[in-house]
Amino acid sequence: MSAGEKVHPQYRQNFHSGISVAWGKVPFTLGGWSTSTSSAVLQIPEGTFLFAGEDLTYLQGWQEAAIISSVNALNNLTDLIGS
Ligand SMILES: Cc1cc2nc3c(=O)[nH]c(=O)nc-3n(C[C@H](O)[C@H](O)[C@H](O)COP(=O)(O)OP(=O)(O)OC[C@H]3O[C@@H](n4cnc5c(N)ncnc54)[C@H](O)[C@@H]3O)c2cc1C
Repeated sequence: MSAGEKVHPQYRQNFHSGISVAWGKVPFTLGGWSTSTSSAVLQIPEGTFLFAGEDLTYLQGWQEAAIISSVNALNNLTDLIGS
């Protein structure tokens, strides 16, 4: 409680109980993040096919990874269009 109150002073009044979700048991999701091995190979275009996703990077499970991967794909797309 005291840690939360440092960020949100009203925390103690408004917070009643927490919840947790077992993402591995949610149908159609079956997990919270990828557990594959990151792939430098899939980050290289295969002809005109480009791949992007957090699962391809070394930072799996984070939005930062999705952004890194998408920026990489966009750079590759720019190269493809330019060539
Ligand atoms: C519960 C939870 C909490 C999280 N908390 C954080 C956090 O606090 N901070 C953080 O940085 N990251 C967090 N993450 C991780 C973050 O959400 C992911 O790393 C990020 O969303 C991955 O982005 P992505 O674009 O690679 O994949 P996704 O966001 O999974 O996007 C893939 C998209 O492809 C679509 N798709 C799939 N198959 C097909 C198909 N055949 N045809 C067309 N579309 C398709 C899907 O519907 C989806 O919209 C959390 C994830 C979960 C599940």
